[in-house]
Amino acid sequence: MTQRIAVIPGDGIGTEVMPEGRRALEAAARRFGLDLAFEAFDFASCDYYLEHGKMLPDDWKETLLEFDALFYGAIGWPDKVPDHVSLWGSLLKFRREFDQYVNLRPCRLLPGIESPLAGRRPGDIDFYVVRENTEGEYSSVGGVMFEGTEREVVIQETVMTRTGVDRVLKYAFDLAATRPRRKLTSATKSNGIAITMPWWDQRVAAMAEHYPDVDVDQFHIDILTANFVMHPDWFDVVVASNLFGDILSDLGPACTGTIGVAPSANINPEGRFPSLFEPVHGSAPDIAGKGIANPIGQIWSGAMMLEHLGHPEAGAAILAAIEAVLAEADPTVLTPDLKGRGTTERLGRAIAERIGSDG
Ligand code: ATP
Ligand code: MG
Repeated sequence: MTQRIAVIPGDGIGTEVMPEGRRALEAAARRFGLDLAFEAFDFASCDYYLEHGKMLPDDWKETLLEFDALFYGAIGWPDKVPDHVSLWGSLLKFRREFDQYVNLRPCRLLPGIESPLAGRRPGDIDFYVVRENTEGEYSSVGGVMFEGTEREVVIQETVMTRTGVDRVLKYAFDLAATRPRRKLTSATKSNGIAITMPWWDQRVAAMAEHYPDVDVDQFHIDILTANFVMHPDWFDVVVASNLFGDILSDLGPACTGTIGVAPSANINPEGRFPSLFEPVHGSAPDIAGKGIANPIGQIWSGAMMLEHLGHPEAGAAILAAIEAVLAEADPTVLTPDLKGRGTTERLGRAIAERIGSDG
């Protein structure tokens, strides 16, 4: 069965790392006999906006619904289009309209990459952050009262629903149940946020009853962030509300070295809508056009996409190839952020060759 992938490079280095993401996917498809069909789109980019006055064509939803997954580069070029326009007009629309309620980020220290946490080695850091992606603290419910007066009061509500929280918790527990350590950590703050967070804890406890094999603990967000830095080896799957997850899903990858390698996924687990896979990094205007961006975040995002599409062995082969090339540490292959003098294409080709040759 053909699986269709919409390729949306976006802006800046998105257009440079995307060909390497595709090269890796094509190598994995050849090796594992996968039938992947790619179609590229120029929308959801600032150049498209400058030409059309909008980030997306009117029929974007019908167009993209035809696809099994969306493979995305990076968005934003603040000198041309304000970030809130480009972001709200594209990625955040996909997330909302395609109900991508799970944001998933692996935090894994790869060989040859120096963690900013002294003395940490590959194997010490290997966990996932699962962020609730649609509700919670990021509601637009609230407002300013007595505006412009001495009595000014501003309120913004957190909105959590049982459906919304239970479905992301279920995803996180399912993920934890597949991992060797079977450990789930819930981010909370029930000592300070006295209504929503104790309720979140109750939903975690209720879900835990269905997963007797998963070992559950919880941390207040303040000490949890400290422990990401002090004891990253404690964690396996970390589940969090939208705001806490936002923070943890930047902190986690930051503990594993360069931003150029970190992948992410916005997932609609039931597959009613296509899920979206993209590197954590942005369009990086400072290095765009130089051909030196690290393509690993894009390539690893492709590995997550294959896993989501039902090809875990192909996803694992891509990650193994990334690790093998990093472990070789050839300075003519690695990009400058990895202290090499290679190019985006050179590193991308080395990984694709490795995927092809390990079969
Ligand atoms: P966002 O677009 O998500 O708001 P940002 O614009 O703050 O993020 P990035 O575009 O990710 O940040 O760039 C942050 C820094 O990291 C820049 O100095 C950029 O050059 C560097 N960087 C980002 N991605 C890569 C990459 N793939 N390879 C090498 N360096 C990168
Ligand atoms: Mg940016």
